[in-house]
Parts: sequence; structure tokens; C-alpha cells
Amino acid sequence: MKQVIGRFAPSPSGRMHLGNVLCALLSWLSVRSQNGSYILRIEDLDPERCPRDYADLIEDDLHWLGLDWDAGASKGGVDGSYYQSERTAIYGIYFDQLSEEGYLYPCFCSRAALHAASAPHLSDGRVIYAGTCRNLTPEQIAEKRKQRGAAIRIRVPDKTISFTDGLQGACEESLRTECGDFILRRSDGVFAYQLAVVVDDGREGVTEVVRGRDLLGSTARQIWLHRLLGFTPPQFIHIPLLNDTNGRRLSKRDADLDLGILRKRFTPAELTGALAYAAGLTPTPMPVRAEELISVFSWDKLPAGDLCLPEGFF
Ligand code: GLU
Repeated sequence: MKQVIGRFAPSPSGRMHLGNVLCALLSWLSVRSQNGSYILRIEDLDPERCPRDYADLIEDDLHWLGLDWDAGASKGGVDGSYYQSERTAIYGIYFDQLSEEGYLYPCFCSRAALHAASAPHLSDGRVIYAGTCRNLTPEQIAEKRKQRGAAIRIRVPDKTISFTDGLQGACEESLRTECGDFILRRSDGVFAYQLAVVVDDGREGVTEVVRGRDLLGSTARQIWLHRLLGFTPPQFIHIPLLNDTNGRRLSKRDADLDLGILRKRFTPAELTGALAYAAGLTPTPMPVRAEELISVFSWDKLPAGDLCLPEGFF
């Protein structure tokens, strides 16, 4: 049987929050319970927003939680650097391939123009690109280039992508009407998350992607890109949101609780115990070490709806 390869791919734009910790814990447990290999990838594409200090703190926080990894971050591994900010040349290879195949085009639309012209707005606030720059002539492109830099978009086909999410079940999305042509490189030259994540998951042989449900809407396009670049798409597992004891969304104050604060209030076992209980892995929120959960872990135990933190957690 093929070896399971999973990963945790945080963006170090700040300290980890409870939701990140839950994602790290569940992705790690899933891999470790299948004797798989676990990668820590630092998604610091935008170096200004993601200083290395934060990436180092993520490693420190994961160690504190008792989670380990086989490749990634300061440990390195077979695919060179696992910091996205150091992989620009690699993304360039795949970007050039798509460009040569005629999939890419420059987009000169300003943010304001995008919002004015784009329709419809999806329920999660994403806008679908109206295609304003899709069919510019070489002369129009040359003219516009004199005025402003261009982002680079990928032309999506009129195709529906279907997949079965490990927790959310059957999903499908029309690339043309529900996704639209999306950006692969920003106008400042930084490659977009959508390209980098697919290249990295593909090259690292990731078989299982566990992440928050907020990224479900990016999955269809990523599956399409995986296939386009010759990779096998991984199994996606989107974990539910974490709510407070009463089933309400975490308030801004609670959601802002990062590990800097949580580490002062809880031991690793207390925090792990609360999250394991919320995820349905244990019958009580008793303190437990991550390692002790490997043998009881099963995705079947997770509740169908949102997860609730135990009474009195905050
Ligand atoms: N870097 C993304 C985040 O921290 C996660 C990307 C992914 O798991 O695909 O939200």
C-alpha cells in the first residue's frame, strides 16, 4: 500500500491560534495512526507578512504540544527548502510550463475595478473574475503594460470538478461559474498560494491534506491544477470550525487567544485534552498527551457539525 504523507502548512503571519493547533493535532494524528510521514511546510510566500521569527515560534509551539515531523521547516528534507519564500525558482518552472501551454494571461484590473465588474459574489465573499482581460490583443497588452504592472491569471475551462472530502462528503464546483480565472502570480511578482500549495503538495508526494473548512472553496481549483501539472491530487479532509462551549462562533477575543497566551494558562496535555474532547476523540476533556491519542484516533469519531470546546474552557 502507498505510504501516507501528510502535512501541516501554516502561514506564519502571527502566533498559532486554537484553530491552527486543532489542525496540527488532527493532521498529525491521522498520519501517525497510519504510520505515515509528516511534513511541516512554512507558507511564508509573502516575506513581509511572514517574518522567520514567527516560523521559528511555530516549530517551538509544535514541540511544546508534543508533535514532531519527518521533514520540513528548519529540519529540511529531500525537496530542498520547506519555506515557500525560498522556493520561488521551483514555482517558476511550473508557472513557465503553464505559460507555454497558453493557460496564462496578464490582468491589469485594479482592486476597485475588480469589485465593480466582478459578479456574482459567492456566499463566502469570494468574487468571480468577470474576464475583463481574458482576450486582450498583444497591442492592448503592450499599451496597458506602460501604465501598470500585471497580475497573471490562469484561464479555467468550462469544467466541473467533483471530489469526496473526507469529512464534508461529496463536493463539486464548476470552474467557470463558481471559481473563475484565478491569480497565479501577483503584480508584485509573488507567486500565489494556489500555485505554491499545489506544486508543494505535488512534489512532496502529499497523499492527505487536512486543513480548516475555510479552504474548502479552494479545493476544486487545486485538484484541477494538480492534474494539469501531472500530479495525483491528495485526499482532502476539511475539518469543522471550532466553537465555544455553547456552540457559538468563538468571539473575537477568544479567537485571538494565541499560543503565547494559551501556553501561560494551560499545560500541553490540558490543551490537547480540550481539543481532543471537542473533536470527539475522548469522552472527557481530561489532560492527555498527543502521543496517547494515536491509538484512539479515527476520523469517524469527529462530529458531523462544528466542534465545541468543553465547558469552562475560557
Ligand atoms: N497556509 C494556509 C493557512 O495557514 C493553509 C494552506 C493549506 O493547508 O492548504 O491557512
